[in-house]
Amino acid sequence: KARIYHQEQHGIDRRLVSRNAIKVCEVLNQKGFQAFIVGGAVRDLILGLEPKDFDVATNATPEEVRASFRRARIIGRRFQLVHVVFGPEIIETSTFRANSNGQNKTDEHGRILNDNVFGTQEEDAARRDFTLNALYYDPLTEQVIDYHNGLSDLRKHIVRIIGDPETRYREDPVRMLRAVRFAAKLNGTIEPHTKEPIKRLADLISNVPDSRLFDETLKLMTCGNALACLKQLREEGLHEGTLPLLDVVLKQPGGQKFVELTLDRTDHRVRQGKSVSPSFLYAALLWRLVDVYWKRNIAQKEPPMQALIHAADQVLEDQVHKLAIQRRHTTDMREIWFMQPRFEHPVPRQIWKMTEQPRFRAACDFLQLRAASGEFDSVQAQWWMDLADTDAAGKTRMIEELT
Ligand code: ATP
Ligand code: MG
Repeated sequence: KARIYHQEQHGIDRRLVSRNAIKVCEVLNQKGFQAFIVGGAVRDLILGLEPKDFDVATNATPEEVRASFRRARIIGRRFQLVHVVFGPEIIETSTFRANSNGQNKTDEHGRILNDNVFGTQEEDAARRDFTLNALYYDPLTEQVIDYHNGLSDLRKHIVRIIGDPETRYREDPVRMLRAVRFAAKLNGTIEPHTKEPIKRLADLISNVPDSRLFDETLKLMTCGNALACLKQLREEGLHEGTLPLLDVVLKQPGGQKFVELTLDRTDHRVRQGKSVSPSFLYAALLWRLVDVYWKRNIAQKEPPMQALIHAADQVLEDQVHKLAIQRRHTTDMREIWFMQPRFEHPVPRQIWKMTEQPRFRAACDFLQLRAASGEFDSVQAQWWMDLADTDAAGKTRMIEELT
């Protein structure tokens, strides 16, 4: 039933494939198992993009995979997979899984609670979310195996769910967010049957654990096309559960501009292959709100710095839970925010101290955003950025020139 494509047909450039992922497939093959690169990496390779990470799917059990490599560990309880470790790179290796037919436990909304039933490659393809995410690449034969006509959808930039859309969304509501994200990322469309139930089922998102929502929201904002993605989320009624933040933010004076600048900058960095830090992103997305509270606290006669700290507390208290922001991120967010007033009236002998703070560069980056949105002098913001970028001698000179 599967279609098999050769190199000339799928066009994957083997040089873009991780050596370590190939190694994992080779070793498992030598032991008599099947092993393929799968999922997002194959999708991105066919599009000519460099994948962020590589996943392998195999008919070997987690225990058999672990035993095949020197540095490998089994991860997860419910859904066991193996991390095969090569220095900084981890190849996530999972055993083919079947998607139920009633075997899987679900909650009262149909959400899958147990998905650890092993299966064949064909069953593994059928439990994946979209046709363009269900392609298998064998790096040894350079063949792509396609059970759901995913290559054709991928070429047309069509996001099409595998199986009955409503059932699949009830099993895992995050798939609705993923549909929107992949369509935005590929500049493509959601196939009509895949799209139809989303508005109707959008509320199911509220049953998803916060930690998964956080991961998915972050992926949304760093997909390289975040603005298009947000627009689509709003149209589908999906922003409610996921991004209550954005609705609050967009209603603030000047909020829209700031959020758009932030996401624009993020898209830019993603397309250049640069990293985006979650704390910076959330610090920026919540800044308008912090700023409004800050001004209000000042109007109520609090001293400026205390007013800012208080504003940060007020905003984070409200949003941290809803947005599932982890504590380690909120620490960084505060540091970025609390440095902002110090940019306004710099005291030369304190500038060195500022440059030594771990989040100084991020705070300068943040200041650039504020300048771009018109709330800070852009010449001064550039001065701080230059300061962050120069070496110690340069810093000394720049600070001396001030006095
Ligand atoms: P990216 O990493 O760029 O966000 P991806 O497709 O690699 O995209 P992952 O979350 O890394 O996404 O998942 C890897 C693969 O696992 C997917 O390509 C898909 O085949 C499968 N998958 C992921 N999430 C789901 C889900 N919620 N339901 C079904 N299959 C999924
Ligand atoms: Mg991935």
